[in-house]
Amino acid sequence: MSELAKRLAQVRERIAAAAKRAGRRPEDITLVGVTKTVPVEIIQEAVAAGLRDLGENRVQELVAKEPLIKGVNWHMIGHLQRNKVKQVLGKISLLHSLDSLALARELEKRAEAEGKSLEVLIEVNVGGEETKFGLPPAAVIPFIKEITNFPALKLRGLMTVAPLVDDPEKVRPVFRRMAALKREVEALKLPGVEMRYLSMGMTNDFEVAIEEGANMVRIGTAIFGPRLL
Ligand SMILES: *Cc1c(COP(=O)(O)O)cnc(C)c1O
Repeated sequence: MSELAKRLAQVRERIAAAAKRAGRRPEDITLVGVTKTVPVEIIQEAVAAGLRDLGENRVQELVAKEPLIKGVNWHMIGHLQRNKVKQVLGKISLLHSLDSLALARELEKRAEAEGKSLEVLIEVNVGGEETKFGLPPAAVIPFIKEITNFPALKLRGLMTVAPLVDDPEKVRPVFRRMAALKREVEALKLPGVEMRYLSMGMTNDFEVAIEEGANMVRIGTAIFGPRLL
């Protein structure tokens, strides 16, 4: 087994162990391998080892790699500028980072014009960090009520990037808050809204995220090694 395949297997084992601790099934957790800065040949190796979901945070990199790696689901996990919507539509299976009404309007307009729909997650900034994108938790439900008027946008859940801390236990409350918010939205039973995914957890904190309810984790470093760029 290659080093990469070993690291991938170790990540899968850690995901499975965290799922079991939380009384959940490992197969209910989707691993999105974060491939930013990773060369295509290396990504192909991970795909050959069974990785099926790939995430990029920049449009330029996503559109460069997407035509070269087929048979996978591409996820856009970074902030999406309105003028780049056209480039990603039809290439991604899930947008994790819906963070404004202006972006929602643009996505709706473009998707509608092309006769497509797009599955989206709303990015939430639970930590209230200035440097991060995402809606404050209190804005999420009013926002969802607005976007239910956009038929081409299919709301499928919530996403967050927790603050970077030395001990992941410190961000457990962030993940717990997200899980509570997801349940609140579910209870509203809004038309067209299916709260299927809670995308949270990265290399430093994914086990705690899973214990608190994440069912989609976005992991780069633990699979591909440290980024050099
Ligand atoms: C880079 C990135 C990740 C993965 O980070 P690692 O710490 O390398 O696992 C996850 N989510 C987003 C939004 C990212 O930009």
